[in-house]
Order: sequence, then C-alpha cells, then structure tokens
Amino acid sequence: METIDLINLRNFSRRTGQQTHPELLDARPLEHVNKIEIDEEHITIEFDEKTTRYYNTNEIAHREWVYKYNDDPAFVNAVRGVIELARKHLKEMPENIACPPGCAECCSGYEPFVSKSDVQRIADHLGLTYAETMERYVVARPSADGYHVGWLRKVGDDISDQCVFLMGSRSGRYYCGIYPARPGDCREFTPIGCDDVDASLPHKSSFKVGAAFQPKRRGRSRNGKRL
Ligand code: SF4
Ligand code: SF4
Repeated sequence: METIDLINLRNFSRRTGQQTHPELLDARPLEHVNKIEIDEEHITIEFDEKTTRYYNTNEIAHREWVYKYNDDPAFVNAVRGVIELARKHLKEMPENIACPPGCAECCSGYEPFVSKSDVQRIADHLGLTYAETMERYVVARPSADGYHVGWLRKVGDDISDQCVFLMGSRSGRYYCGIYPARPGDCREFTPIGCDDVDASLPHKSSFKVGAAFQPKRRGRSRNGKRL
C-alpha cells in the first residue's frame, strides 16, 4: 500500500519520479478501480484483483492506494471528479484506445498461448476436431499449471514470422483470419502503452477486411494422392 500526500505533490514527484499533473498521470489503473472510499483524511482506492498468466507462472495483483488529503470538501470533490472523469474518458473515447486499422505487429514476433477452451473454440470455428486443430495450428507445450496447452504456430520457423492465422499482407494492412475465435491471449493485446504499433497507419481510416481463414481440406484426390 502506498500513501501519496496530495498536499505535497511536488515532493512526491521529486522522490518517486512519478508525475502528479492529472494530464500526465498514467490513468491505466483506473480501468480496474473497484472501490473508492473517502474518509476524513484519506481517499482509498481499491483495484480489482487481476491475474496475469505467464507461461509457467501466474501473477496475481491486488492493488490498493491510499491518498492523503486535507479536510477541504471542495478539494476532495475535485479529486473525486478527476478520477471519475478519467474513468469516463477511458470508456468513452474508443478512438484513443483502438489499434490503427490494419496494424498487426503483435501478430508477428509473439506466440499467443492457448488454453484448451481456446483450441476448442478455434476448432469449432474452423469445423475441425480438437485434435486436428492441435496438430495443425498449435505447438503443443503444456504449462506447469496445465492451463495452457501450447501456443499458436507461425507460418515459418523464425520467431518474427507471422501467426498462421494472420491475413491480408498485400495491402500492407493485416487482419486476423479467425477474429471471432481468436485466443484469449490475443484479446488481451491492447494499444495502451504498445511500443510495436505500426505508426505509418492512420488511426482514422476504415479498412475492409477480406475473407476469413479457411483450413486446407485434407483427404485423397481421385488419383489417390493425399491432399
Ligand atoms: S490468432 Fe489472430 S489476433 Fe491472434 S496472433 Fe493470430 S492473427 Fe493475431
Ligand atoms: S497497436 Fe499494438 S496492440 Fe494494436 S495491433 Fe498494433 S501492435 Fe498490436
């Protein structure tokens, strides 16, 4: 738990290097604010418990910050107003937190982990069995806690190769070929703080995606050759 003296913000900044101008504050944690309590001396902000799954370890964070303030009700209300405004902006300004259409830098150089339910969802989406999906599209490597069963394959062996489901390279803009069924790991990609964004792509543009990914049908042709 951290106590920030709001009366002496400049000292706090000097000591910690954290900016205290509201417009420079990192508002990301406010997304997960669970409860704000204000008493005579403190504002206590509780964040949701958040589980971050790494491959072989889970990080569980429960954060609580206490802000100290003087007993001026106008000041308290102003602080509350800033917090609520920041939360509102995060929700209501999707263009600020959307990826530029066609950007898919995170679909290369990164291998999304998949759980059993991810694999089953992709299998149902593609009309394949669980086993076929594992064999064709997943590098099987169960995590220690059994939650992940592996990660999505890439089109080649290089770590920077594209995800096997990434489509649309010709236009220089990309899209996910299994978007509605993409793994939970991919759903957690966020442009907030993303260093990989393709800055050449405009935010305010539309991009018509092409056909969805289709698995190659396997079987035997009339001459008996395996397809
Ligand atoms: S499944 Fe889709 S969103 Fe996920 S890495 Fe592959 S192309 Fe990107
Ligand atoms: S902005 Fe970042 S998170 Fe969004 S698609 Fe591009 S690389 Fe991925």
